[in-house]
Amino acid sequence: MDSKQFKEAAASAIDEIANYYDTIEDRRVVSDVEPGYLKKLLPNGPPQEGEPWADIQKDIESKIMPGLTHWQSPNFMAFFPSNSTFPSMLGELYSAAFTAPAFNWICSPAVTELETVVLDWLAKLFNLPECYLSTSHGGGVIQGSASEAVVTVVVAARDKYLRETTSHLSGLELEDAIAHKRSRMVALGSESSHSSTQKAAQIAGVRYRSIPAPKETGYTINGAALEEVLKECKAQGLEPFYLTTTLGTTSTCSVDDFASIASTLSKYAPPNVPGEIWVHVDAAYAGAALVCPEYQHLTASFEHFHSFNMNMHKWLLTNFDASCLFIRKRKDLIDALSIMPSYLRNEFSESGLVTDYRDWQIPLGRRFRSLKIWFVLRTYGVKGLQEFVRKHIKLGEFFARLLKTRPDLFEIITGPSFALTVFNVVPRTGGKAEQDKLTQDVYELVNKRGEIYITSTVIGGVYAIRVVSANERAEEKFLQKAFNILVSTAEEVRNGQAS
Ligand code: PLP
Repeated sequence: MDSKQFKEAAASAIDEIANYYDTIEDRRVVSDVEPGYLKKLLPNGPPQEGEPWADIQKDIESKIMPGLTHWQSPNFMAFFPSNSTFPSMLGELYSAAFTAPAFNWICSPAVTELETVVLDWLAKLFNLPECYLSTSHGGGVIQGSASEAVVTVVVAARDKYLRETTSHLSGLELEDAIAHKRSRMVALGSESSHSSTQKAAQIAGVRYRSIPAPKETGYTINGAALEEVLKECKAQGLEPFYLTTTLGTTSTCSVDDFASIASTLSKYAPPNVPGEIWVHVDAAYAGAALVCPEYQHLTASFEHFHSFNMNMHKWLLTNFDASCLFIRKRKDLIDALSIMPSYLRNEFSESGLVTDYRDWQIPLGRRFRSLKIWFVLRTYGVKGLQEFVRKHIKLGEFFARLLKTRPDLFEIITGPSFALTVFNVVPRTGGKAEQDKLTQDVYELVNKRGEIYITSTVIGGVYAIRVVSANERAEEKFLQKAFNILVSTAEEVRNGQAS
């Protein structure tokens, strides 16, 4: 493909993509293909002769579209959104054009420097304490996902803990102490934490303990619950070194009690003393709301914590992947992840004047992801981002009000919280078992019919439906439609008329 053919092909592809977005609400939101559908539609191997773009493009509609679940559809109210926008797509296009696995500053200085600038912009926009800025001892780095961010900080926390608590030893004694400690070290999460913390503990080869997050505390953890678990660990000779707290849990969008957690830690594992517990704030989805001043009080305790992460690729108009990790002390990451083989040596890295982001992440190579964030921030502006978030918060309130008009049919369990409402269906007779069964049946039938797409969860042992109204194209009319579908399906199932 030469540049003339590229221009024609790209124009045609962009035309198709724009039309896809213009008509997306008319498509069935959840794919209904059978597993293995695509293999039957494709040849056994690649073509011997190259094909014209027009033939390749045709297969998007006929072969790929049927197997897509349309996350950008306003009828998508499942999981958390994964919003994409045209400015962020343009960022991806340029990033692909400039492709470079820019692991060191010299590999493409603009890739590193734009990332540093844009992440400092974001840190200020989210009201993170000064210590998270590159101009202080911290800084931000773009990772592929929140899970990757958690693995990265668990590894950094593990190495920091081991380094600081064994610094008085050397030789065989040091090796023995590290081996012993490694077998006793515990990463903590909560019952409401995303599963990525448990997975990170598994990858880092440390134990994992979960702190109860019961209904009474709104499915969150606080200092008292943490204290209990710290005491238990101590009694068992275990060494907690890391804790994930959450701003916007996956099931219900609850927010942990950061202030009381900080206060407990100041007693049990005082900050800046060897053996302190690394606290990470996982704000993968709801962190986006920090663009609005009315949510910024939530960052008040973060100066006592060690890292914070939010996904631009969930709620903040930037396509997958762009997970922003901010660290209070970049040295902690670099000490754990820096290795300098001879083939990566260069005068700039050795000068100490540049950032080499390969030392802030697990992989070596990295994409030019800050471009798309830069395009989004400039296209929408701070005001545009605030309006976007506030619109969704209002839509969440609208949906919750609709549910409340039918107390005979729906019971809200939590929310609306950051545009997420969690509820179940009320049975005519019977107890919890009947309610769980009815809610599950309604949920499954709604998704099978595919007009809207929602997800379920089990919270406090109760089966529940989650509806999120934070899709880029979300509007009242789509939430009204979702509510109408839920009402008619719940009535149908409850009356035994579902087929
Ligand atoms: N943390 C929270 C609170 C989440 O809700 C999710 C996913 O929804 C994740 C982490 C994992 O995100 P990722 O897919 O970026 O790893």
